[in-house]
This record gives sequence, C-alpha cells and structure tokens, in this order.
Amino acid sequence: MTTSQQDKLVIEYIGKAHTPYPEKFAIPRQPGIVTAAQGYIELFDQQHATQMLNGIEQYSHLWVLFGFHATQQQGWKPMVRPPRLGGNKKMGVLATRSTFRPNPIGMSVVKFLKTDNINNKTVIRIQGMDLLDQTPIIDIKPYIPYSDAVTDATSDFAQSVGTAIQVSFNDQAQSQLSLFDNHYPDLSLLIKQVLSQDPRPAYKTNQVDNKLYGMALFDLNIQWQMTNMNHAVVINITKST
Ligand code: SAM
Repeated sequence: MTTSQQDKLVIEYIGKAHTPYPEKFAIPRQPGIVTAAQGYIELFDQQHATQMLNGIEQYSHLWVLFGFHATQQQGWKPMVRPPRLGGNKKMGVLATRSTFRPNPIGMSVVKFLKTDNINNKTVIRIQGMDLLDQTPIIDIKPYIPYSDAVTDATSDFAQSVGTAIQVSFNDQAQSQLSLFDNHYPDLSLLIKQVLSQDPRPAYKTNQVDNKLYGMALFDLNIQWQMTNMNHAVVINITKST
C-alpha cells in the first residue's frame, strides 16, 4: 500500500479485552456463536471511564472494534484462503472476515451485560465475543437494531454457523468439571459450545483419528478425542502449569 501522511489515521487503543481465550486455536470464527463466553473490557482512561460509559446500560449489544494484534506482524495479502472453504480456495481479502487485512481491524457485535468494578477499575462486562484474551480495543459503539440488523441480507459464502458436532464428557472429565465449575462462568456450556464448532483444522474435520486434541480456556487445558466424525469426548480438564 502506498500512503502519504494525509492518508493516515492516528488511532490509539482505548482499552483491552479479557476473554476466556488465551490462544487463537478454538476461538469461534464470529461472535454470538459461543454465547457462554463471558469476559470484560477494561478502559485505559479510568479517570473518564464512568463518563465515557454514561448511558450505555440502555443497549443490549455493542459493536467492539479491535486490533488483530496477534497476527498483524504477518502482514496481509490481497487474496486469502478462508477456513470455511476448507483452506483450498482463495478469495479477495475484502470479501472475507480474515484477520490478515490491509488495516488489521476486527469488528464484533457482543452482548452487553453491565458495567462493573474489577480491581478498582471500571469495566464493561460482555458475552459471546470472538476475541483473543488481551486484545486491544479501538472503539465501542452501541448496536442499533433498526439500522444494523439487515433482515434481508444475503451471503452465499458464509450462510450459517455450520453443523454442530456432539460433545460429551467422560467420567474423569465430569468429576474434574465439578471441581472447576464454580470458579469459571458457565464452564461446561463454554467447553461444549466451543467444541461443537469442531475447532480442528479444516482438513481434519472429516477425519476420525485417535489423536488427543487440546485447547486452552482461561487457565485450563482441555483435552478431547473424536469418537466418530460428529462426536467429541472431553477426557481431561486440568489447570495450566
Ligand atoms: N468478528 C471479527 C470480524 O469479523 O472482524 C473477527 C472475525 S475473525 C475471522 C475471528 C478470529 O480472529 C478468531 O477465531 C481468532 O482466531 C482471531 N482473533 C481474535 N482476536 C484476535 C487478535 N487479537 N489477534 C489476532 N487474531 C485474533
């Protein structure tokens, strides 16, 4: 890209997100899919945070604009391979929601729960996000249904979430779950919703192997196996060391 000084916009991050997703693997591809994911946004300007959020309680959902900070070093290409197409076909970057964009900016509609105070900081509690933990926030705006909800919108490429796979817990995972359940919001539902999207790489999704897969949620390691193409069994839930 060629830019002159006047073609640039100066942006400073206004906060950061705290989410259940400490690594990219297994984060849902869009918001609102894993509704059990709860987290919060911490505003950096604590002196003005209460004023900045005045009136926000009247909205049920918010737009969150954020930086794809974890992938920005990798740059961008005009054509990308969306995982939804199995990673084989290319599409123009602007025709996708790829993280590898000319300006690495993401946008997600999330459920607004409430403003709160955590460790003496004013925060915004949110739900259903698709953001990596510690994601820098560029802006927050109210979601306005009359204009933002386009009921006759079409999308041939990404028509629906995709088929959910079945998820269950074996006896060991079930008892580990009962140890952790009180300390992590909606943990069993969160694990189920994340795994039901089959986070394995696209080329694996029609395969059954004996492989032990692992993902991180909060500071927990979750391991599972596929018993058939449509069924994941969680077998181990432990604290990360
Ligand atoms: N809803 C947003 C959008 O459309 O702009 C994000 C869509 S993008 C396809 C979602 C993926 O971005 C997630 O599955 C995760 O892998 C990745 N992601 C989330 N937060 C990120 C971050 N801070 N840096 C890099 N990648 C991130």
